[in-house]
Amino acid sequence: MNERKLEPPPREKLTSSGEKKSGFLFIISAPSGAGKSTLCRAARDRFADLVYSVSYTTRSPRSGEKDGVDYHFILKDEFEKGIVRHRWAEWAEVHDHYYGTSADFLDEELSSGRDILLDIDIQGTHQILQRYPDGITIFIMPPSLETLKCRLQSRGTDSPEVIAVRLKNAREEMAQKDLYRHIVTNDRLPDAVAELITIFETYRS
Ligand code: 5GP
Repeated sequence: MNERKLEPPPREKLTSSGEKKSGFLFIISAPSGAGKSTLCRAARDRFADLVYSVSYTTRSPRSGEKDGVDYHFILKDEFEKGIVRHRWAEWAEVHDHYYGTSADFLDEELSSGRDILLDIDIQGTHQILQRYPDGITIFIMPPSLETLKCRLQSRGTDSPEVIAVRLKNAREEMAQKDLYRHIVTNDRLPDAVAELITIFETYRS
C-alpha cells in the first residue's frame, strides 16, 4: 500500500494562457527484484506520452537489450569524458559499471512541457533532487526481504553469492526509502500497478 498521502502537484504546470510550463520529472527506484521494470513498463504503457529517459551505461547489453532503447551502451572512456564535461544530470557506479542520465535530454524535454520517467538508483536520486528539487520520487518496496529472496531465487539467474549481495544492497536501499515522496509496496502486482498509476494521474491530471 502507498504509505503516504498523495500530495498536490508541487507547482502549477500551466501558464496563465493555458500552455504547459514544464514537464513533471518522475523518478523511480527500487531494490533489485522488487518489480521496478514491470511497474515502469506498466506506467509507460498507460501513458503513451510519458518520455522514458534512456540512460547511458558502460555495461554490456544483456540478451534482448537494444542500444538506444534499453540503454545507450557506451565505452568507459566516453562516459568519463562526459563526467568531466558535465554531460550527466546524475551518474553513479553500480555493480562496477557507470550509469548516467543526459542533462541536455532532461532539460530539453522538461522545457518542452513533456513528463519524463527516470529509472535510476538511490545515488542518482540524491543528485537529481539537487538539480530538480520538484522531482516526484517513488520507491518500490518488496513486501519483505524474505519475499525478495524467494523472488530472486525463483528467477534462477543469479548464484547464491550474487543473491546474498543483492539482499545486502536491498537492505541498505530500503533503509533510505524516506528520501522518496511516495512508496509503493509491490505485494500483488495489479495493486502496485494501480497505485503507481494513481500517483502519476494525481500529478498529470
Ligand atoms: P541494470 O544494469 O540491472 O539495468 O541496472 C542496475 C541499476 O542501475 C538499477 O538499479 C537501475 O535503476 C540503475 N540505473 C539505470 N540507469 C541509471 C542511471 O542513469 N543512473 C543511475 N544512477 N542509476 C541507473
